[in-house]
Amino acid sequence: MATVGKVIKCKAAVAWEANKPLVIEEIEVDVPHANEIRIKIIATGVCHTDLYHLFEGKHKDGFPVVLGHEGAGIVESVGPGVTEFQPGEKVIPLFISQCGECRFCQSPKTNQCVKGWANDSHDVMSPKETRFTCKGQKVLQFLGTSTFSQYTVVNQIAVAKIDPSAPLDTVCLLGCGVCTGFGAAVNTAKVEPGSTCAVFGLGAVGLAAVMGCHSAGAKRIIAVDLNPDKFEKAKVFGATDFVNPNDHSEPISQVLSKMTNGGVDFSLECVGNVGVMRNALESCLKGWGVSVLVGWTDLHDVATRPIQLIAGRTWKGSLFGGFKGKDGVPKMVKAYLDKKVKLDEFITHRMPLESVNDSIDLMKHGKCIRTVLSLE
Ligand code: NAD
Ligand code: ZN
Repeated sequence: MATVGKVIKCKAAVAWEANKPLVIEEIEVDVPHANEIRIKIIATGVCHTDLYHLFEGKHKDGFPVVLGHEGAGIVESVGPGVTEFQPGEKVIPLFISQCGECRFCQSPKTNQCVKGWANDSHDVMSPKETRFTCKGQKVLQFLGTSTFSQYTVVNQIAVAKIDPSAPLDTVCLLGCGVCTGFGAAVNTAKVEPGSTCAVFGLGAVGLAAVMGCHSAGAKRIIAVDLNPDKFEKAKVFGATDFVNPNDHSEPISQVLSKMTNGGVDFSLECVGNVGVMRNALESCLKGWGVSVLVGWTDLHDVATRPIQLIAGRTWKGSLFGGFKGKDGVPKMVKAYLDKKVKLDEFITHRMPLESVNDSIDLMKHGKCIRTVLSLE
């Protein structure tokens, strides 16, 4: 191909600073170095974690950056030492790597690879090293991926090869939101058949958690959101009860406790708010209730009274739904192709990369589930 071995100039949405609209720029994408893969991104979802970095986390060392971490594309070229991937193959870049060799990769208990970006820069949310420049300046790669760019370069330990028949403009959602929520229910909470569950926050992550609870055989799934527009969609994924905390004067944990004779078996926080994290825990039944933190925030401590845990509740967290990316993502793609998990139902909007700021506004105002941006 004409681009192999050369720096590629392409379009990307650059976040020059926090709280400002992204700017479509021409950036330079370097050739893949040893063990790296250059990917032509075809489509990307917009996830709340992109908005978190732009509007909430705002770490000063985290800009300028190309956001986006929920993409899918095609291998354009590979660097020295890459044997596992060939140009033309369909892939999903992973924001959580799987080197296969570290003690975490060798354990079935976790997906926390030691080589991931989060090990040294979870607050900045981008590794120091990047293959992007724009106007002579280094531009960071968000979560090591940067899918709001027509091309990106990722280490081969952070790429999943997927079924060649997979539609990239849909399976991109498996790069983050859907695997995150689904896996949080199935892998982390380990939802049991016949159980009662509560999911707080009904964005793509929360709806995927609802889908996970449903597929694990939960009997009752209580969907909780401040935005009642989300309830109709939650029904599609298997929710059975709908609660808007604004409709109640008492704490939501008491509302759920009354609805369920003492509390739910499993709860999942998919908002990213420490107050909601506490409510989710305290909505669980004593004795065996399990609550999982999925929403992302690093600004405040979480708190509860010790008796909540002493009484037998378990508080856990989940990154990327506990999936080891290289193993888990291709299986989820297959599950979609076999009609065992839904993806199309999450997509409420499609637009070109140029409209990225509109997609951010939609999410900010609770008007979408997922927008898929096309980069072609
Ligand atoms: P989203 O903005 O689409 O959805 C969030 C939902 O929460 C909205 O429907 C909103 O109305 C609702 N909400 C807000 N405040 C609430 C409250 N007090 N009570 C109940 N509901 C409330 O976001 P998303 O893309 O679905 O992401 C959800 C969260 O998951 C974010 O914090 C994101 O950063 C995080 N996330 C975590 C991981 C991970 O690996 N742990 C991965 C992806 C996303
Ligand atoms: Zn995400």
